[in-house]
Amino acid sequence: MIVPYNRPTLWGKEIRYIRSAIRRGQISGDGYFTEQCSRWLEKRLAAPKVLLTPSGTHALELAALLLNLKPSDEFIVSSFTFPSTANAFVLRGAVPRFVDIRPDTLNIDERLVEAAVNRRTKVLVPMHYAGVPCDMTALNRLARKHRLKMVEDAAQALGARYRGRLAGTFGDLNAFSFHETKNIICGEGGALAIMDPRYSDRAEIIRQKGTNRAKFYRGEVDKYSWVDVGSSYVPSELQSAYLFAQLEKLDAVISLRRRLYERYREALQPLEDRGNLTLPVIPSGVTSSYHLFHILVGSQKARDRILTGLRRVGITSVFHYFPLHLSGMGRKFGYRRGQFPISEKTSACLLRLPLYNRMTSSEQAYVIRNFIKLV
Ligand SMILES: *Cc1c(COP(=O)(O)O)cnc(C)c1O
Repeated sequence: MIVPYNRPTLWGKEIRYIRSAIRRGQISGDGYFTEQCSRWLEKRLAAPKVLLTPSGTHALELAALLLNLKPSDEFIVSSFTFPSTANAFVLRGAVPRFVDIRPDTLNIDERLVEAAVNRRTKVLVPMHYAGVPCDMTALNRLARKHRLKMVEDAAQALGARYRGRLAGTFGDLNAFSFHETKNIICGEGGALAIMDPRYSDRAEIIRQKGTNRAKFYRGEVDKYSWVDVGSSYVPSELQSAYLFAQLEKLDAVISLRRRLYERYREALQPLEDRGNLTLPVIPSGVTSSYHLFHILVGSQKARDRILTGLRRVGITSVFHYFPLHLSGMGRKFGYRRGQFPISEKTSACLLRLPLYNRMTSSEQAYVIRNFIKLV
């Protein structure tokens, strides 16, 4: 049996919606389906404005542009994250101030944030790992106290909640991803949720090549022109059409993934009880989007042996993240080994088991059986 790490899913209406976009006569961006997706997300998130972008990375870049970051401004982020979480701000010349993660959720350790704040700190960027929200009470309090802007990297967390409130609605500007490895997908795609409406007009302009084209489309101006800096952060209608079919299934996706997650947990609990490994943790008061099922084993050697063993029987299991402070870019900012021990240990000992929306129970049973043999 071959079990991939991820397999993109069709829910049924994707192809119909893509045909419909073509029939409507517009496959460039900001047509009918982009509008449908934005309105759907605005309603779900109760966000004043949501703009679709061609990727989660672009949503983060749009946020960094809106915050007018200048060279030597600093932002706070955990070292255990995807490069884009930091790169979007570094692209504006800002300097990353890395912080270690909590050993349970692998999210930024809120107790370590304050020590990283100084006069140059402008932004706090919490990333919700595996779709389990960070401690937003503590992080919100810190952001308010030190007058920091907050940008959530909610790439993995659409539908997750912290004390009842949806992830991606706490920060001033919050990014989601619809990359094919995420829960809700359109190949490459993303969205920026704008919670502070003062950013809305300028966000539309930056996203549309620095022009006021969005206002023109709405008939609010009679011609459009170049009014600010910008780029092209607009996905095509083909992506948006695919995405809308997926968004409509968000609740079904989360409950399917929850079932897979819980089955892994139940099957592997005896191994954790015997002290052979550590299973993922969802703190009380939080609900997950069940994006990942990750496991921590005792050493890098054991982890690599398990990954190789799984590959031999046709199962793709993977590790991540290479800690940003030890990456080539991270070292350019002067970081070195030993500074963030939990991030380093996690990166060495973590593996992710296959988990995708339409994973069958026989595929999952095959993974569980082979994984147990290797531990
Ligand atoms: C996937 C991901 C991104 C980037 O999203 P893209 O749509 O691939 O650009 C950023 N941050 C995190 C935490 C992610 O998981």
